[in-house]
Amino acid sequence: MTAVQPKPTSVGETFDSLSPATDEVVGTYPVHSAEDVRATVESARVAAEWWDGLGYAGRADRLRQWKGVITRRLPQLCQVVRDETGKPIVDAQLESVLAIEHIAWAGKHARKILGKQRRSAGLLMSNQAATVEYRPLGVVGVIGPWNYPVFTPLGSIVYALAAGNAVVFKPSEYTPGVGKWLVDAFNEIVPEQPVLQLVTGFGETGAALVSAGVDKIAFTGSTATGKKIMAAAAQTLTPVVIEAGGKDPVLVDADADLDAAADATVWGAFSNSGQTCIGVERVYVHERVHDEFVAKVVEKSRDVRAGSDEDAQYGPVTMPSQLAVIRRHIADAIERGGRAVIGGVDSVGDRYAQPTVLVDVPEDSEAVREETFGPTVTIAKVRDMDEAVDKANATKYGLGSTVFSKSRGMELAARLRTGMTSINAPLSFAGIASLPFGGVGDSGFGRIHGPEGLREFARPKAVARQRFTAPIALTSFNRKESTDALVVKLITILHGKR
Ligand code: NAD
Repeated sequence: MTAVQPKPTSVGETFDSLSPATDEVVGTYPVHSAEDVRATVESARVAAEWWDGLGYAGRADRLRQWKGVITRRLPQLCQVVRDETGKPIVDAQLESVLAIEHIAWAGKHARKILGKQRRSAGLLMSNQAATVEYRPLGVVGVIGPWNYPVFTPLGSIVYALAAGNAVVFKPSEYTPGVGKWLVDAFNEIVPEQPVLQLVTGFGETGAALVSAGVDKIAFTGSTATGKKIMAAAAQTLTPVVIEAGGKDPVLVDADADLDAAADATVWGAFSNSGQTCIGVERVYVHERVHDEFVAKVVEKSRDVRAGSDEDAQYGPVTMPSQLAVIRRHIADAIERGGRAVIGGVDSVGDRYAQPTVLVDVPEDSEAVREETFGPTVTIAKVRDMDEAVDKANATKYGLGSTVFSKSRGMELAARLRTGMTSINAPLSFAGIASLPFGGVGDSGFGRIHGPEGLREFARPKAVARQRFTAPIALTSFNRKESTDALVVKLITILHGKR
């Protein structure tokens, strides 16, 4: 086995972005220093005011135009994604199409969700008019991963922009070219001010962004980095949204459509070489259909292959260091009594990992407990769906989940401790722009997408306006004893009932 050099390589003030399929240099980018990042954030502050001043309609119009440019140049964007991640063009297209839907949704709905709303002032304060409006935070720092370099960072960037913020974006060091492409396309549509800016580099550049005086950090990446970012952000009380890793389960009930469930498992586990935060990593199957389900998964997995040719279903493992993790999880599972019904340790090469399906793996092994982030899946037999729910929930992560059941889908979904669940189809929640996306526990907190995603990048501003002088003045030293007595009477009538 030939050792693959870690990617990318730092050369002085620049670094190279390499194709994980060929190791060819596909771009060279600056390593931005802490000073560079600070200056970028400062210039973003002026841009933020200008962008806010455009109002909802002005911003919606620019977002609409940006989405048009991305859509018309989709083949070009997909090629950049393929160059830097090695994933098939059709997969790059799928993530880009979903991201375009999000741009459309956020631009269209921002005013309705964030604009001024009246609230009831209540009986005691009925002389007041109460309103709330969601104002932009200012400058948002977005730190992205490489696995879905279009869909994932745009999930934060688009909602932050639609809410009226300027954004400084630090893409992964593995996909700086994709980040640059997206930012350049935006700046063609918004040439007046640097509303969306790019800084590139490694973890240090990301860390510099966290301490550069931004008003919020939206981070997507590993749980370990999320913890570091939160600790650093605590020094300045900078709020954070953390979209971290997962160990997503699929539950297959006795009455499930087994073909559909097997298809979803195979695609959810192996597509993008398993490098999907909401990818399928574990399956819990009712004992009555377990063997049939495993047979279907095995059969469907035989048609799936990693490679760089046009016919391959997925590409290389983007981050070479991940190959060792995948190998270790499979080896540990097998050593502890698990069986590989497809693949095994030898399926993990020095660039590509072929599919692996594991059964009889102890629940406390790494393959079940830790994020593998590779094309592997464990399948376990359960007595009933209560056991499936208990096992699915017995994890520190809680990002996505999937339930296959004809009669109990909604009930089982409600019992899963995850931020999102899709029923009878894989990962559907990610493509529905109106649904919030995010996790619990080690998967992070805060939400992108949907109304919650817009509010994540805004601060509620509450205003109470006195419409007329109240007959009973409560907030004055001049109030009479009779006023206090009247208040007690009123509150007893309103709230004192047994
Ligand atoms: P990573 O944590 O290694 O890096 C993510 C980003 O953080 C990169 O841009 C990196 O340069 C930056 N970074 C590294 N150290 C930093 C520091 N100390 N301060 C600030 N920034 C720093 O993650 P990755 O390998 O790029 O991505 C894979 C992980 O992302 C997986 O765990 C996956 O599950 C997760 N992910 C989660 C979601 C989600 O929405 N929850 C989506 C996609 C990926």
